[in-house]
Amino acid sequence: MDSLASKIGDIKEEIIKIQENYYVIIPYGIAGNIGVFIGNTGVILIDDQWAVLSRRIKELISTITSKPIKTIINTHYHFDHTHGNLTFGPEGIPIIAHKNARTRMSERQVIPTYHNVVQKPFPLEALPTITFTDKSELHEGNETIELIYYKDAHTDGDVIVHFKNADIYHTGDVFVSIGGWLPHIDEKAGGSIYGVIDAANKLLSQTSGTTKFIPGHGPVSSKKELQDYRDLLTAVRDNVVKMYRQKAKLEDIIKDTQIKIHYENKGGENFIAQVYRAVEKHENQYRAEKK
Ligand SMILES: [Zn+2]
Repeated sequence: MDSLASKIGDIKEEIIKIQENYYVIIPYGIAGNIGVFIGNTGVILIDDQWAVLSRRIKELISTITSKPIKTIINTHYHFDHTHGNLTFGPEGIPIIAHKNARTRMSERQVIPTYHNVVQKPFPLEALPTITFTDKSELHEGNETIELIYYKDAHTDGDVIVHFKNADIYHTGDVFVSIGGWLPHIDEKAGGSIYGVIDAANKLLSQTSGTTKFIPGHGPVSSKKELQDYRDLLTAVRDNVVKMYRQKAKLEDIIKDTQIKIHYENKGGENFIAQVYRAVEKHENQYRAEKK
């Protein structure tokens, strides 16, 4: 965290209108996208980034509305999405999250996807005040906001938020749309490529060509970008499964998969190795169940 602090202070942010009353705050640096919905009686935020950026977030919101922030939803426990709770929690703003995400925020975490950086336990007043396990719904004017738990995807506590009327999703880090980025999956916190692909498939099955997605990181996207992302991840997973069953060596699996997904010179080694671990676990479970 301390090593990140100087970089975080330099993050530039931009607020972009998706449609009337729906905005996104896009950061240029290590921070998650914030979904902003201006409701009848206040503003609902999806994720709140870093506490050092809270003042700037409030300033950006004040350029589009004078209404106060009334509710915050955390998509998962990672501090580049939730550290702003340290500002907003003590102000008495209700914070909603999945039960597992709250548990993780209350404990010390080591996050491998961010170079094993330590996330310190949040103080009590910064922890989510409302949790759920399966799904939940908020009602604000004409809008119904659906909060759905996606099991073991990016972490073990991912919530995808759907503004049903506007048909806008905030996916948290289950979906990232930065070109050339392979996703970070927090396997130490229960995440798995299988859960991410399942989540993407489920989302795709219930969305239309006009649905908009606010990803955890990257620009607002359409169904097409989510499809491309799902196809890329599926190609990686399926190739690893195929070669694992042929008892290929990890280094050969990495090389072959990189060529198949056109990542020859763009890295991806760590990601493919991680997928390999997930496949190994999955195949062993499958064999154990068959016995
Ligand atoms: Zn994350």
